[in-house]
Amino acid sequence: MSFFQPLAQQPADALLALIGMFRNDPRPGKLDLGVGVFRDDAGNTPVMRSVKAAEKKLWETQDSKSYLGPEGNVAFARHMARLALGDVDLSGRLTGVQTPGGTGALRLGAELLGATKPGATVWVGTPTWPNHPPVLAAAGLKVQTYKHFDTNTQAITFDAVMDALNKAQAGDIALLHGCCHNPTGADFDLDQWKAIAELLSARGIVPFLDLAYQGLGLGMEQDAAGVRLVMDACPEAVLAYSCDKNFGVYRDRVGALIVQTAAAGDTDRISSNILALARANWSMPPDHGGAVIATLLDDATLAADWKLELDTMRDRLLGIRAALAGHGGVLGRVDQQRGMFSLLPLSPDVVKRLREDHAVYMAGSGRINVAGLSVETAGQFAKALAACL
Ligand code: PMP
Repeated sequence: MSFFQPLAQQPADALLALIGMFRNDPRPGKLDLGVGVFRDDAGNTPVMRSVKAAEKKLWETQDSKSYLGPEGNVAFARHMARLALGDVDLSGRLTGVQTPGGTGALRLGAELLGATKPGATVWVGTPTWPNHPPVLAAAGLKVQTYKHFDTNTQAITFDAVMDALNKAQAGDIALLHGCCHNPTGADFDLDQWKAIAELLSARGIVPFLDLAYQGLGLGMEQDAAGVRLVMDACPEAVLAYSCDKNFGVYRDRVGALIVQTAAAGDTDRISSNILALARANWSMPPDHGGAVIATLLDDATLAADWKLELDTMRDRLLGIRAALAGHGGVLGRVDQQRGMFSLLPLSPDVVKRLREDHAVYMAGSGRINVAGLSVETAGQFAKALAACL
């Protein structure tokens, strides 16, 4: 028997398989609503103008690629804390490190939580990003799910959320999407965030916030409002930040882990644990993406241009959402949802017929990436949908 014989075949990533099928489909007017990246009206995912300019500036000024350290680019991590949390005091109860993407931040955050309380329970509303449960489980945390969203009514099941968090014990963890919920687009409103923040604080539940789409929902400040409420209410909190979407640097893998400690005197000790865990995982994060974004945000002109580009991206998503909702039916509430994704109540059979009969490609779950459409093709999609329902 070979050494690796005990390993079972793992299922292929269905979304990656969809990319290949889409590419090989010769039909004109085919629509790709599958993969979770932003697209412009031409269907491309371009490098942002401000990012290109920052890369050029970095190329001209960077004089060494010598090692940094497990914390990565410190200026970058401070920028991420400021983007997420506003004008906060970074010398006090906050500590942050650069990570390989939001996934790296989630993994490192989960390991920090697991190292503090081995086997701790994490409450996760479902449906959620499919990588959440395995990342949490890999850190030895116990995942406890509850219902976040009803696909048929297209609404958040807020009573179920509050019921679940009311059952959680002190020292449990609550994983919460900061904005642009993946896969449903259904975000808490401010009153709901306030109720959650109060509950977490009253019950001693530790928030684990995942902010991966800031600026793609309603705006940079609005999209962080929930995260800020929770971090104000709870003494200790963990925030996984991804800037792979809002800076369009997906493959460069750019993120940060930010941890809020109960007292300023705790940060050094907790930071030393974060760094030890990072060292055991990846020694130090890849530098390029973080250095580019720090360069961009340090330059007022580039930062202003990035904000303009992000405004255009967000407006495009909101415009497509409005166009889709105008068709009513299962699309009627898509304009109440935010970011790139919505989850439609479609059976696997309908998803298959959309693909085979109408060249519309989407995840088997019924998740659509609205960025794969345009205001013009929204009608084409609505028509195909109506023909399959
Ligand atoms: N959290 C959520 C909710 C996501 O959707 C994603 C990416 N799909 C991530 C985290 C991870 O982002 P990254 O690509 O930066 O690892």
